[in-house]
Amino acid sequence: MQVPAQFEYERATSVEDALAFLARHGPEARVVAGGHSLIPMMKLRLAQPDALIDINDVDELSYIRIDGDHLCLGALVRHAELLDSAVVGEHFAVFHDAERVIADPIVRNRGTIGGSLCQADPSEDLSAAFAAVHALAVIRGPDGSRTVPIREFHTGPYETAVEPGELLTELRVPIRPGGSSAYEKVERRVGDWPLAAAGAALWLEDGRIAEVGIGLTAVGAAHFVAVEAEEHLRGAEPSEEAFAEAGRIAAEHCDPGSDQRGPADYKRHLAGELTARALSRAFERAMGRSRT
Ligand SMILES: Cc1cc2nc3c(=O)[nH]c(=O)nc-3n(C[C@H](O)[C@H](O)[C@H](O)COP(=O)(O)OP(=O)(O)OC[C@H]3O[C@@H](n4cnc5c(N)ncnc54)[C@H](O)[C@@H]3O)c2cc1C
Repeated sequence: MQVPAQFEYERATSVEDALAFLARHGPEARVVAGGHSLIPMMKLRLAQPDALIDINDVDELSYIRIDGDHLCLGALVRHAELLDSAVVGEHFAVFHDAERVIADPIVRNRGTIGGSLCQADPSEDLSAAFAAVHALAVIRGPDGSRTVPIREFHTGPYETAVEPGELLTELRVPIRPGGSSAYEKVERRVGDWPLAAAGAALWLEDGRIAEVGIGLTAVGAAHFVAVEAEEHLRGAEPSEEAFAEAGRIAAEHCDPGSDQRGPADYKRHLAGELTARALSRAFERAMGRSRT
């Protein structure tokens, strides 16, 4: 049986409380939310924090609400809550699409959106979904709050802009008129991590694509984004040809590796195909002929 190394344990009941514990225990302390990533890593001794700061009682981080023209999600929102939220589905179907195919109900009932993004696994699904909708991450530390575009949040595999002593507190997603979104994933078996997946968001204005977001995961796309493909579509007329070309560009510019999930050339092919499909599905939703 694998057992973690010894650690101290603190249970925070507020953000201030969590920040105070982080300050007291220093840079080797780690926050634990759902624990679905951190605890297995501790059992394998891939992570050996001196102290765990449990934020599961920090109710102020557990909300889904509209604030002006933003959808605001507390970092402690569970996968299952994101999946069940009508307001999330109404504005950003990409999250419901993604959550339906993340892990299984056990993981989704406990795992949090903050934990998923902070784990920064290169195959993480929500990173691509949040990148597609141009979300913002709110990070709190001893000196107050700062807001980081999600496209600058991931600084490398398993690395984020959250510094020691800080906490990711909120994800903010701008709501703009004419928006629609979708997520497409290929996995080896139900609930598995993706071989490749793509999230797409479109904002249409006067029959053209005024703004677009394309998130890619598991295929080595820098910051989980297909910027060149987005550039191709910005200002263009939406069409299957344009979406296919965007997929081709996305595939050309990503950098997948071969591993136990599949060979690099297959993942590259999937990146292109799934990008085109996600764009097409988002467009169908915008036109009200959704395949849901
Ligand atoms: C069997 C299984 C299948 C899975 N399948 C998928 C899948 O298909 N797709 C997918 O994307 N993911 C998948 N996952 C990953 C799962 O979604 C994540 O493990 C989980 O949601 C991470 O969230 P958590 O709350 O459990 O994080 P934790 O394990 O508690 O924390 C993860 C990391 O984030 C840090 N952290 C957590 N919250 C904060 C915060 N608010 N501020 C700062 N740092 C924080 C922790 O210190 C730790 O470093 C799977 C996991 C399992 C166990």
